[in-house]
Amino acid sequence: MPMSEEPQISTGPGWTTDGLPACTVGMDLLRRFQAVRPNDYAFLKVQDFADLGASAFDGILEWDAFTGHCATCEDCKERRSA
Ligand SMILES: [Zn+2]
Repeated sequence: MPMSEEPQISTGPGWTTDGLPACTVGMDLLRRFQAVRPNDYAFLKVQDFADLGASAFDGILEWDAFTGHCATCEDCKERRSA
């Protein structure tokens, strides 16, 4: 089965394909967060991406994996500062 390149995020912030907050790797981590914790994911707001360290989701394993990636990924940094 081929992996879909399209983001499948249907809840939480309304990302457009051009306005994703992270690179492919980051979005994979974000989708894992969505898959494991759909209830938490539904409460994600755009502001959580503007200030990752101050998010209420701090301490959630999957979210920390995402923010950990974003902290070291130039691509993600650029997307979030654009
Ligand atoms: Zn990245």
